Amino acid sequence: MKTIIEPFKIKSVEPIKFTTYQQREQTLKKAFYNPFMLHADDVLIDLLTDSGTSAMSAKQWAGMMEGDESYAGSKSFFRFETVVKELTGFKHVIPTHQGRAAERILFSIVGGKGKFIPNNTHFDTTRANVEFTGAEAVDLLCEIGKHPETVAPFKGDIDVLALDRFIQEKGRENIPLCMITITNNSGGGQPVSMKNIREAKKVLKRHRIPLFLDACRFAENAYFIKLREKGYANKSVRNIAQEMFSLADGCTMSAKKDALVNIGGFFALNDDALAAKARNLLIITEGFPTYGGLAGRDLEAIAQGLEEILDEHYLQYRIRSIEYLGEKLTASKVPIVQPPGGHAIYLDAKRFAPHIPTWQYPGQSIVCELYRAGGIRSVEIGSVMFGKYDPQTKKLISPPMELVRLAIPRRVYTQSHIDYVVEILLEVFESRNRLKGMKIVEEAPTLRHFTAKFKYAA
Ligand SMILES: *Cc1c(COP(=O)(O)O)cnc(C)c1O
Repeated sequence: MKTIIEPFKIKSVEPIKFTTYQQREQTLKKAFYNPFMLHADDVLIDLLTDSGTSAMSAKQWAGMMEGDESYAGSKSFFRFETVVKELTGFKHVIPTHQGRAAERILFSIVGGKGKFIPNNTHFDTTRANVEFTGAEAVDLLCEIGKHPETVAPFKGDIDVLALDRFIQEKGRENIPLCMITITNNSGGGQPVSMKNIREAKKVLKRHRIPLFLDACRFAENAYFIKLREKGYANKSVRNIAQEMFSLADGCTMSAKKDALVNIGGFFALNDDALAAKARNLLIITEGFPTYGGLAGRDLEAIAQGLEEILDEHYLQYRIRSIEYLGEKLTASKVPIVQPPGGHAIYLDAKRFAPHIPTWQYPGQSIVCELYRAGGIRSVEIGSVMFGKYDPQTKKLISPPMELVRLAIPRRVYTQSHIDYVVEILLEVFESRNRLKGMKIVEEAPTLRHFTAKFKYAA
């Protein structure tokens, strides 16, 4: 097998700034040891997120110039609508400025007190939009998805038996819809199998509950199905994606992921009455239904991106580059969530730095050291992001896992950038005994990870 190469050549480049260890030490201190407070300019390799950080193609940039900025009935909207309909088969296509705007519109119609929304795992904005309406967001991930060391092909699957039981317990009238997130972002970017979507749909159909996909990484999920699920090896990724959507009644989508753009999203569905309500809400907060908070040029870029994302050379390179990073780390015994997902590698901070207790944020300590050692920006997904205080004892309650996410932007970095990331990671791993615990000295009451200030514990 030959090396899988980047399936593009580079026409426009953006320089990255090299800094010294001492400079980074200073910069990090000034940012209170919180990578969200770094100036992006001071980062060499930015693996904070894969959201909105994709490199657009020459055709997407050309599309930006073609964008029709008419307030109503823009030509760009019709191109966008045609592409989304052809891909998803859904009857109504409603553009929004991001994925969360689609979520907000959907859940403010179907949510509310006493309602329950099951999902394999809610992404944090999805959960927030469900809970904001007073409804309850319930994660029903399959058992194997909860074990970071276990290698399995579809660790993002929803637990179909638990779903059936859940519906019988709560009553179908209290469950306006079920969601499945493809791939499961919060669970490490793990894919969901077609079989699982089909079985979930069967149960839901029996109870007359619609199924919606959180489709942010639909193409990465479809490619995993092609690679791993029996009967799909010879199908095109486009057909696999179409089959996934055909099992659902609608979807919410952040175009900042698998539409290869820097901003945008949409809500697509079959239900006429729900679509009419959604358009009314859209007009209040996002805009007229043929632009929904986006410029005509953004709609062009999304339409083009949705075509390019299904290129199987691209997807082979994409999935392989994450796997490549994972393989190199695993070969050197660096503990990661297995197997590598579609968009990121997650370090298991509990095994990486076992001498740091969870209440001293082992993940945050690794994040800081990766920046100091190599100018790499990553993010803690553990007690900093999801830790809660016990209302009585005021003690920190940690989530089950302490992770550090290295998210890979699409089409941005080459294999030598990834090799460099591996070198820095191994360097930090070899001297892991020197990592020190941290404490929070200032924090906001909600979503504290964005603005918290840290210090090293004594
Ligand atoms: C990013 C993301 C969202 C929210 O999309 P935004 O465009 O950031 O608002 C929802 N669900 C999943 C799984 C995501 O990854």
